[in-house]
Amino acid sequence: MPKYRVRIDPRDNCISDMVCVSICPDVFEMSPDDNKVQIIEKWREGGDIATGIVGEDLKGCVEEAANACPVQIIHVEEVEG
Ligand code: SF4
Repeated sequence: MPKYRVRIDPRDNCISDMVCVSICPDVFEMSPDDNKVQIIEKWREGGDIATGIVGEDLKGCVEEAANACPVQIIHVEEVEG
């Protein structure tokens, strides 16, 4: 099964409108520390709050969130191998 890397970059540009959270709450949440979006802990890659790896089942919602983000900081790419 293919996997997908989701990156929030540059995370500092997040305007905290929660569009991605409303579209894909299984992957995105707001950080209580700085009120910007972060990847939910169970998907994080190497503990990075701005990078995660998700399966095919979440591909549709992360891509929809990426397309809807008004500042276009969500990036989705297939992971090789
Ligand atoms: S949609 Fe974009 S700007 Fe809005 S909360 Fe998500 S990452 Fe931040």
